[in-house]
Amino acid sequence: MSDDQIMFTLDESEQVTHWYNIVADLPTPPPPPLHPGTREPVGPDDLAPLFPIELIMQEVTGERYVEIPGPVLDVYKQYRPSPLYRARRWEQKLGTPARIYYKYEGVSPAGSHKTNTAIPQVYYNSLHGIRRLTTETGAGQWGTALSYAAALFDVECEVWQVGASYDTKPQRRTLIEVFGGTVHRSPSRLTESGKAFPEDHPGSLGIAISEAVEVAAQDESSKYALGSVLNHVLLHQTVIGEEALRQLAKAGESSVDLVVGCAGGGSNFAGLAFPFLREKLAGNQDPTILAVEPSSCPTLTRGEYRYDFGDTAGLTPLMKMYTLGHDFVPSPIHAGGLRYHGMAPLVSHAVHEGLIEATALHQSECFEAGLEFARTQGIVAAPESSHALAQARREALAAKESGEEKVIVIGLSGHGLLELGAYDAFLSGRLEDDPLSDDALATALAGVPIV
Ligand SMILES: *Cc1c(COP(=O)(O)O)cnc(C)c1O
Repeated sequence: MSDDQIMFTLDESEQVTHWYNIVADLPTPPPPPLHPGTREPVGPDDLAPLFPIELIMQEVTGERYVEIPGPVLDVYKQYRPSPLYRARRWEQKLGTPARIYYKYEGVSPAGSHKTNTAIPQVYYNSLHGIRRLTTETGAGQWGTALSYAAALFDVECEVWQVGASYDTKPQRRTLIEVFGGTVHRSPSRLTESGKAFPEDHPGSLGIAISEAVEVAAQDESSKYALGSVLNHVLLHQTVIGEEALRQLAKAGESSVDLVVGCAGGGSNFAGLAFPFLREKLAGNQDPTILAVEPSSCPTLTRGEYRYDFGDTAGLTPLMKMYTLGHDFVPSPIHAGGLRYHGMAPLVSHAVHEGLIEATALHQSECFEAGLEFARTQGIVAAPESSHALAQARREALAAKESGEEKVIVIGLSGHGLLELGAYDAFLSGRLEDDPLSDDALATALAGVPIV
């Protein structure tokens, strides 16, 4: 390695061949999901109408490593390993002694980490002759990733897009259609779950999930795909952290002080963080592992750790997680991918056990950091990812105060080239912070079932 190297990749022989399952190493087992009707732990049979058996097994397995199938590795090769960069110019701009690295998932075909799970999910469904996959999308990244993966394996993809984002992000919708997917505005008139709301309702991820689940459950040749939250989704994303550990070793960093990522449903954060948590639990290094969320949707920092539904209609299993309540309709902040009422049960469990930490930031500080990052690194970060940048910036400035040579690793989950409207709003001073009020929080939490 040369001293001024800024980009770290991997040789063919160093490629990641297995996903990592944190469940194998957690000090205490995470609480099981419960059937929405009986409130008993769900079994594989309960999930069979929605998911293929391979994904159901990955959802419940305690195995430490799961082999990545060959056809999935073949597609990963198009954009993996994703680069790990050292942000030297940003460090200089900040005047920090900290060494800042970022793992950039924006190089994927869909522009975010979501392709990492879309590809295996479609692949496993294709093994069973599934004709169509249904799903929800918030900001549009997940719909884009799934529709691209579906095109590769010759499966149809039908997407319910959250109304507010459907109305304001026509380019995302077009991109989904370019890859061959079909898009409906949610709440739609096509489902009972959608018809429960007025047609012009802004929608939410919870409503869109209900619609996609309802359609898949009623058609034998259709199944449902979820872009975050579930154990198997987090599992697929661990390719990010496994690569990052190897790339950091090549950069001469055998241990790091801070791993930071943004958290909506928790998948990109877990994907980066869980391999580092394994190293932490094994005593090999001792990083602080930190999830950053928006102050307008503060699931980990102000939600309650309880059983709740993953969707608005209550069709999904009850999951033990930090939640703002399944009726919660977040304010339309620009980081659409961070607007979910719940948090992945595995991330929630790790936070509850004190293994990882969480913080919430206002979006204006995030866009500020996003601009500084763009002007030193040349990458326009997704508004979601800018939450991780802003927190890293805080830590780098604190290191400047204390003179500590910290090593910081950031999960840069995607690019923001289709979110320029949000950057425009910030640049022209039209972007407002919209913290969640105590009253609104109490109202939403009142709808969480008593289990
Ligand atoms: C979807 C998305 C997120 C949030 O989802 P997680 O499951 O929390 O990762 C964050 N960043 C980008 C770029 C996204 O597309």
